[in-house]
Amino acid sequence: MVISEYESLVNKIKTCVQCDLCKTRTNAVPGQGSLTSKIMFVGEAPGAREDEVGLPFVGAAGNVLSGMLELIGLSRQEVYIANIIKCRPPNNRDPSPHEIDQCWKYLDKQIDLINPDLIVTLGRHSFGNFFPGELISQARGTPRNWNGRTIFPVYHPAATLHNPRLKPILEEDFRKMKMLINNTQIESEKLTKENLSETQLTFDFDAHELHETKKDNGNKL
Ligand code: URA
Repeated sequence: MVISEYESLVNKIKTCVQCDLCKTRTNAVPGQGSLTSKIMFVGEAPGAREDEVGLPFVGAAGNVLSGMLELIGLSRQEVYIANIIKCRPPNNRDPSPHEIDQCWKYLDKQIDLINPDLIVTLGRHSFGNFFPGELISQARGTPRNWNGRTIFPVYHPAATLHNPRLKPILEEDFRKMKMLINNTQIESEKLTKENLSETQLTFDFDAHELHETKKDNGNKL
């Protein structure tokens, strides 16, 4: 990970004017979390609260996501969280194909720089951008390959707020994800090699600075 490249990407996202969402945004929302994480969560687009503070998943859906992470012993600090679209669509409407087209390159670069082994797509829009034309209801909870990485599709955390019957399904999928993380050989090997010495880098968008902490050597990822 070349830090200056990440900082330059964040600046590009924050000053992007390639679609009309820049006219209505308060803040662009690049992403947040560990820049050395092997797990990346990808949602759809920022909502009202995210637009206000410039961070992903900090509203009601974010509370559900944090709860799910806690359920499987992960914290937000040890994963990376981003969205397909970096600026809030007015009234939380679905992003247009043009907006997705313009914004996809930013997520692509984030994936390239952070280099996660596992990408968890949150909801049908996020999943649909990796695997167009498939149903999330059929795809959820089963890992699959995408350009040499593992994609694990789950329902969007916000869906559980509208339909509480989806909550146990989301919990079940998070537990499966945890098993996948624990059981994946390649992942464990990478972890073993990196665990002891790896420095965790976290970008603080408010302070616009990087924090370095030693990763502890738990069997977490
Ligand atoms: N929903 C998303 O898809 N992303 C966010 O950042 C917040 C809500």
